[in-house]
Amino acid sequence: MDRKTVNVEIESKKEVPAEALAAARHELGEHNGINMSIEASNTFTFKDSDAMNRAFLGEVGPKTGIYIYSRHLNPTILNLGRQIAAMEGTETAYCTASGMSAISSVFLQLCNTGGHVVAAKTLYGGSHALLTHFLPQKCNITTTFVDIVDLEEVDKAMIEGKTSVLYFESISNPTLIVANIPELSKIAHAKWVKVVVDNTFAPMILSPAKLGADVVVHSISKYISGEADIIAGAVCGPADIVDQMRDPHEGPFMLLGPTMNPKLAFEISGRIPHLSMRMKKHCKRAMKYVTKMKELDPNLDVLYPGLKEHPQHSLLKSMSNKDYGFGGVFCIDMKTEGRAYRLMDKLQNNTKFGFMGVSLGYYETLMSCSSSSTNSMLDTKEKERAGISPGLVRFSVGYVGTFEQKWSQFTRAYSEM
Ligand SMILES: *Cc1c(COP(=O)(O)O)cnc(C)c1O
Repeated sequence: MDRKTVNVEIESKKEVPAEALAAARHELGEHNGINMSIEASNTFTFKDSDAMNRAFLGEVGPKTGIYIYSRHLNPTILNLGRQIAAMEGTETAYCTASGMSAISSVFLQLCNTGGHVVAAKTLYGGSHALLTHFLPQKCNITTTFVDIVDLEEVDKAMIEGKTSVLYFESISNPTLIVANIPELSKIAHAKWVKVVVDNTFAPMILSPAKLGADVVVHSISKYISGEADIIAGAVCGPADIVDQMRDPHEGPFMLLGPTMNPKLAFEISGRIPHLSMRMKKHCKRAMKYVTKMKELDPNLDVLYPGLKEHPQHSLLKSMSNKDYGFGGVFCIDMKTEGRAYRLMDKLQNNTKFGFMGVSLGYYETLMSCSSSSTNSMLDTKEKERAGISPGLVRFSVGYVGTFEQKWSQFTRAYSEM
């Protein structure tokens, strides 16, 4: 097993240069292949009946190269999990079929019926709906939504002995609020509350577990995949949480079956080594756009943590890994839905600046009007509370094409507004 693995130890994440995170773990293939092998079998055989019996008793397992069934454990997915755990600096990680399955599995693992969650009011629309509708209706798990920037409010909302999870996004979608991970972890841990962070917007940029979080979840569908072609997710954290999620009798991975396809795990594995380069490109391009936009029109309402006036600009700077910027997403507030739509139409169809689409992390720029797309399941009051204005256009910044070419496409469309 070890022969196949080149494991680069990373001492302190804080000062690690960008590339090191992506190369923290390299899995070699079965026949000394330079890439890891794909174990495409969904079931595994045993050398004799005694070995089979011992596998089911849990006396032997992956550590001795024994597997049973791929919904439980698959060597390829385990290998990808090791890569992602190395990237996030967690003890272990396991991958799932989507970001939402990773997120919902974590809630179902950490909360029992009657349980309580404290969550940021600015969340990915699906996560917000899960906490607002599904979990209370189906599992009697309730959520108090808070302003994640207001540490006192967060502290007050957590009830010792009842609240089991504090949930937030490292950089929130789409409002780009940056969470103070070290302080939030401190106040949660004082009440024995587990801190779960969705790091989809900031892989490589932030290492939430190093900053105090217990569990880190990802939608791999975004930056980690990078080509807008895969739906996948990951749960990163301590072995006593992640391994238990595969428990044959109680674990949500095992019983709800949000299993990743090993062929997909192989594909994702090959994209992690260049994730750091891509993240840097996204961040650099985003910073350049917002700087130029502020020059072009000082009255334009631009939202980006890289701007000095962003309320968490220095917080993000203090938490982020070396050599990265401030993320690949920025928003501009066009004030009304009509103006937002007009800008997107011009940018896509007149000047080819980018595509209208809801995802992020693609190499081309994607634009969406959050209020009427990804966050449309929020009612007007919820949107207002989350700070999502009707004219907010979210840009997931791509890095292809020269900056000059792309900027001229933007200014041409903007001048027609
Ligand atoms: C997309 C997204 C999710 C959901 O992930 P899927 O892979 O689409 O299931 C969760 N959180 C955030 C922040 C996202 O952007």
